[in-house]
Amino acid sequence: MNGVNNIIFLDGKIPIKTIQLPFCYKCMDYISSGSNFCLNCENPPSYTRGKWFFNCIRALGIYSQIKYGDYLVPINLLSELLVLLKFKRTTKFKKYAGSLLADGLFQIVKNNIELFQGSSYIITSPKFSSAEKNNVGFIIRPLLPKLNSIVFSIDNITYKAKRNKDIGQSKSLGTFENRFEAIRGVHDIELKNLHNKKVILIDDIITSGSTAWDLSRALKDKNAGDINILTAGKNQTSHQWPITKFDDFSFDYLMLYFSKMDFHRDIDKIEKCNVEQLDINVSKQGYTIIEGSIGEYVIKIDFNKKILTHKCNDFVHDKMRNKKFCKHISKLFMEIKNRNGEENSKEILLGLYQNLDRWDFSAD
Ligand SMILES: [Zn+2]
Ligand SMILES: [Zn+2]
Repeated sequence: MNGVNNIIFLDGKIPIKTIQLPFCYKCMDYISSGSNFCLNCENPPSYTRGKWFFNCIRALGIYSQIKYGDYLVPINLLSELLVLLKFKRTTKFKKYAGSLLADGLFQIVKNNIELFQGSSYIITSPKFSSAEKNNVGFIIRPLLPKLNSIVFSIDNITYKAKRNKDIGQSKSLGTFENRFEAIRGVHDIELKNLHNKKVILIDDIITSGSTAWDLSRALKDKNAGDINILTAGKNQTSHQWPITKFDDFSFDYLMLYFSKMDFHRDIDKIEKCNVEQLDINVSKQGYTIIEGSIGEYVIKIDFNKKILTHKCNDFVHDKMRNKKFCKHISKLFMEIKNRNGEENSKEILLGLYQNLDRWDFSAD
């Protein structure tokens, strides 16, 4: 694998922890040792008629969000990037996330070259309505020239794929089996013959694999060769805080996570904020209260009550809900790093992250 401790750096600077062994050779779900395949892959849902059609799934990392009240908190940097890609309305964010994810997926292809080499086609599941934006396009566009710069000669055939039925949000479909039943026969490929050529099926997030399964069926109906699935996030919903599986944290990683990537993307804006005052209180038990004012804004981080209080517009209307930092809080932590050193400021951030389920981010 690439890098140290199975970390892949997107564009050489954003660390993503890859999925650790043992995982199912087909779908990349965690498995207990002693088998190459998970229970779902060993006993496919009956609606698949025992046929998976695709060969296997390779993912960049784990995608998961945990629900607090009405809001979702992404558990790691990769999930944060996927949220930017899927839910931000502005193209600027989607392009930013898409190009980083494309770089990561390109590394996955190179690390699994025996699976992907010689592929002739790339495809993603189309939307039912052509008016609906397909976010995976923001990954495919920067990825395709990278693939074709090595030994590949790949055509994007997504525009030849059709959905003949609107099945709605797959989340509302309920059980694993129901998802497969609902999507069976939905895809159609408007090409006569794929001449047994290899296909890369790409998606941003794979959950049950049902969409990939039916698209693979449609490709096989048109005589496709081996189909391998490339996805940024393998959706695994069973996580709970504290998240212990992602244990390679740096100051940079945590700042990227808490700032929703602004720590790199908008570093100029963060650096421009003025720190007027900063008091750090440490007792024998650790930090008690960190209080600072950035320009006209006050930030108070109370470690006993586990409450982070702040009141700017961006924090109140956006960042607070997902337990994230605005530029003022990011600047405060840069200042803590300047004063106390990187290791020390990282420990404070890690304390926040690992107990995030018990912290309140509040306006008052
Ligand atoms: Zn599996
Ligand atoms: Zn703020």
